[in-house]
Amino acid sequence: MGKVTGFLEIDRQEARYQPASDRIRHYREFTLPLSDAEVAGQAARCMDCGIPFCHGPQGCPVNNQIPDWNDLVYADDWEEASRNLHSTNNFPEFTGRICPAPCEEACTLNLENVPVAIKTVEQAIADKAWANGWIVPEPAAAKSGSRVAVVGSGPAGLAAAQQLARAGHEVHVYEREPRAGGLLRYGIPDFKMEKRHIDRRVEQMEAEGVTFHYGVNVGVTLPVSELTDGYDAVLFAGGAEKPRDPQLPGQDLQGVHYAMPFLVQQNRRVGFENAIPEARVEATAKHVVVIGGGDTASDCVGTSFRQGAIVVTQLDIRPTPPKVEDKLLTWPYWPTKFRTSSSQAEGAEREFAAVTLGIEGKNGKVVGVRCARADAKRQPIPGSEFLIKADLVFIALGFSGPRIDGLVEQSGVALDKRGNVLADESSYVTSNPKVFAAGDMRRGQSLVVWAIREGRQAAAAIDTFLTGSTKLPR
Ligand SMILES: Cc1cc2nc3c(=O)[nH]c(=O)nc-3n(C[C@H](O)[C@H](O)[C@H](O)COP(=O)(O)OP(=O)(O)OC[C@H]3O[C@@H](n4cnc5c(N)ncnc54)[C@H](O)[C@@H]3O)c2cc1C
Ligand code: SF4
Repeated sequence: MGKVTGFLEIDRQEARYQPASDRIRHYREFTLPLSDAEVAGQAARCMDCGIPFCHGPQGCPVNNQIPDWNDLVYADDWEEASRNLHSTNNFPEFTGRICPAPCEEACTLNLENVPVAIKTVEQAIADKAWANGWIVPEPAAAKSGSRVAVVGSGPAGLAAAQQLARAGHEVHVYEREPRAGGLLRYGIPDFKMEKRHIDRRVEQMEAEGVTFHYGVNVGVTLPVSELTDGYDAVLFAGGAEKPRDPQLPGQDLQGVHYAMPFLVQQNRRVGFENAIPEARVEATAKHVVVIGGGDTASDCVGTSFRQGAIVVTQLDIRPTPPKVEDKLLTWPYWPTKFRTSSSQAEGAEREFAAVTLGIEGKNGKVVGVRCARADAKRQPIPGSEFLIKADLVFIALGFSGPRIDGLVEQSGVALDKRGNVLADESSYVTSNPKVFAAGDMRRGQSLVVWAIREGRQAAAAIDTFLTGSTKLPR
């Protein structure tokens, strides 16, 4: 374990942020990393619990061996810590930056509200590994002769492609967009994760034999049959792209947008993509209202501030959550509690228990959002209506499932009751025996760490399908 008395002697410490007034002036990452000695101190707090809840199913979806690498960092063996971390997670520099860290909620020390700063240690290990050249291509020693197509280069597709290439298969990734990464690149803003982290992983994977085909919309510009006929197995990892439609009165007014086109175009601009197909939407000098309470809504808030919005108000239908959860009812599971994202901390006005009744307009343009207070059943309380001034409204209510037109429709794969591609969490196979599915496309909108888990597990399932057995870890 780390230091036997570490948790008694050392306070929890996380990476600090640049002040909000500075960080809203740019789109780059703004965390100020801890020193090696500080990270080792945080790792030293780990108690190496007999049952490490951080690592188990309630904690880490990829089952990172957290107590082991905490101990290795404390012992100053960062290279072995990196090897250990990469044995369960293909992309720890992604999760070290943007995972909500269910492992920290599950940590035994969270019973005292001071969990081990697991995410901070994870990012430090991954960043040091890159800086020291420990992360290199790991091409397969022998080729299997089998060919696999992966549709989608989000975290699920990337993890699966890397695992399959390392198992010796010839892997081709088909991606609709001009660059790889899925929502990592086009949804999540650079200020949460800069895209150079994706680029160098793509380089690593290319050196491992993965071929990327960009600008190919399978089921639209390339028939699905070309993949099902031309490859020994196909993995669908196309994400859950259909936005939830609240069907609000006034939703078609000028100035009302879904969140994604707004985030995508800003990410394209930051990435110097020349051709931006989406019509320009900008929050500069505007009163912005964001409808929704999740990650996507938060990213709209942070992006709006960076574009120079005057006021950003975020509407959440849920009642104000408690500041501190009742540990004995929730631990080690993910609790509902009052959380403030770094974007919200940049100055967002937050309205809880706010039902959106409709969007008000004048001359075809949005001028405000009409709301009411929500009762316990999330229904509007009569007489509690209020209006929030708005020149720009973002609908960020999440995603209802994968897009059906194109890939899903043309392939004819069966869907589950929620409208996701039907495949179980063991075989990952769809109703077509040579087509597999993973990530948000299979499980519905989720997290990057779940997508990585599904990509890894689907790769093991495909390897078994192709060769009769697998040495890939699940
Ligand atoms: C704005 C936003 C912020 C988020 N923030 C976080 C966060 O902070 N932390 C976190 O853990 N999770 C976050 N998430 C969720 C996370 O990004 C997703 O759960 C994750 O990216 C899903 O990975 P995936 O590989 O399944 O799909 P995606 O990342 O959606 O990738 C799917 C890819 O498939 C491609 N594709 C789709 N159809 C086709 C086709 N027919 N042909 C070719 N290519 C196709 C798409 O272009 C895309 O590149 C966020 C999501 C959003 C929208
Ligand atoms: S639960 Fe916390 S203290 Fe226990 S092993 Fe995991 S990180 Fe260490």
